[in-house]
Amino acid sequence: MIVIGGGLAGLAAGVALADSSWRVRLFEQRPFLGGRATSYVLPDGEHVDNCQHVTLGCCTNLEDFYKRVGAENKIQFFDHLLFLDPQGRRGEISAGILPAPFHFAGSFALFKPLVLLDKLSIARAMVDILQHQGDTPDLHESGGISMLEWLRRRGQTQGAIDRFWRVVLVSALDEELERTDARFGVDVFWKAFLSNSTGYRMGVPAVPLSNLYDGCKWEIERRGGEVNLRSTLRGLKIESGQLAGVRFDENREESADAYIFAVPHTALAELLPESLKQSDPTLANLDKIKVSPITGVHFWFDRTVMDEPFITLLDTTTQWIFNKTTLYAGSASEAGEGEKSTNASQYLQLVISASYDLLQKSRQDIIDLCLAEVRHALPRARDAQLLKATVIKEAAATFSPEPGVDRWRPSQHTSIPGLFLAGDWTQTGWPATMEGAVRSGYLAAEAILRVHGTSRTFLQPDLAPDGFISMWLGQPPASR
Ligand SMILES: Cc1cc2nc3c(=O)[nH]c(=O)nc-3n(C[C@H](O)[C@H](O)[C@H](O)COP(=O)(O)OP(=O)(O)OC[C@H]3O[C@@H](n4cnc5c(N)ncnc54)[C@H](O)[C@@H]3O)c2cc1C
Repeated sequence: MIVIGGGLAGLAAGVALADSSWRVRLFEQRPFLGGRATSYVLPDGEHVDNCQHVTLGCCTNLEDFYKRVGAENKIQFFDHLLFLDPQGRRGEISAGILPAPFHFAGSFALFKPLVLLDKLSIARAMVDILQHQGDTPDLHESGGISMLEWLRRRGQTQGAIDRFWRVVLVSALDEELERTDARFGVDVFWKAFLSNSTGYRMGVPAVPLSNLYDGCKWEIERRGGEVNLRSTLRGLKIESGQLAGVRFDENREESADAYIFAVPHTALAELLPESLKQSDPTLANLDKIKVSPITGVHFWFDRTVMDEPFITLLDTTTQWIFNKTTLYAGSASEAGEGEKSTNASQYLQLVISASYDLLQKSRQDIIDLCLAEVRHALPRARDAQLLKATVIKEAAATFSPEPGVDRWRPSQHTSIPGLFLAGDWTQTGWPATMEGAVRSGYLAAEAILRVHGTSRTFLQPDLAPDGFISMWLGQPPASR
């Protein structure tokens, strides 16, 4: 079978099918694996992630995938989330001793960046999510409603919207609240923050992202398959209206019993001939799925300017600061850090999701803006020298989770014989995340096996509810 695309979706499908004794031939256009969740070497020799990626405890399929490819020990989990506002007020969110859904009650009560009225309005909305188990009736209104509308209907204060809902959801979903389907936003809170006490734990890679995929090639090759890098799909071979093969450079053609196209939806829309789009209407709407940007800013200081592994900033353009030096500690040689940095220097990576306002700005303007914010937030950075900086703008980082977007997302199993799809943008129920990408790959693998008469389940269940929620739902508590 042939997989086109070596991002998480293609890799998850490839590894799952190899494990089912299929001979997988994977073709990726770039010289490395990982797609949008990868790292590479800059012209100056520095090894950087295209952008910091994080996972959450509730991402059960990504966790399963990392286990399959031997990467689970390269993810560090943190259970303290630190928030800092421009006035220097710090707030911490971490699970206390109370069972779910009350595990955040203590840290939320003490959370300084929010005032009492903000907290009361947030608590009311949380009760609503709890009562409906993450599925409030208005989420089903035709065409979907925006998260902002959902919050307004629940009387949220401006402080709660700006300093809580927006902070969590713009980072998680890469879109502004007014352009986000409330279904995705409510789901984040139900799955990560309310239904159990570990879903919110943040997993951060301790190595550059591309190091996470070393085991994928091995898993595919040991079953007789192959991973072909620098192999760009140029077109599809159609015979009698059916998919008969795929074409690469120099007129190289390959054919297989089944094909998984695990490329971004924008790339697929260009590759698919009109005849195929017409024969399966779910493929005709790919251009209706919009994209949203993320900007990563990388700073190298001449000295240590922060001790925490990461901080969330409130009321600033910069949303997150990750302390890459600390996060890579212990795997410095893999990161290439050991050779380049002295002990005193520090590498920080900043993330700005839904960064529409930065797309037109010059890189120098972005560096100046973010540097001023970092120096305001971290007093030790004021005297530190910025040794170098780089900005990576990803204009099409994720698909935009607009209200109603799910109606344009095709299933992994198309009606065209032999043609299967994978990608965070396909029907997974999840927003554009690494978890969504892995889910899509597993679903594509399951669909292929089904068509060929075998049944196997790769998709992992959601994190089980725990605490009072499991008692309330009458389910056994989580065994994790
Ligand atoms: C800046 C940024 C930050 C992000 N942060 C997070 C985060 O913190 N947490 C999180 O969960 N998610 C995050 N995401 C989203 C996450 O990276 C994606 O959802 C996920 O990686 C998508 O995987 P995919 O396999 O569906 O697609 P891709 O990763 O896009 O994979 C598609 C692959 O197909 C290849 N390809 C395309 N065309 C061809 C062709 N013609 N021939 C051969 N190969 C081709 C591409 O090179 C690519 O490798 C972030 C994304 C970005 C861009």
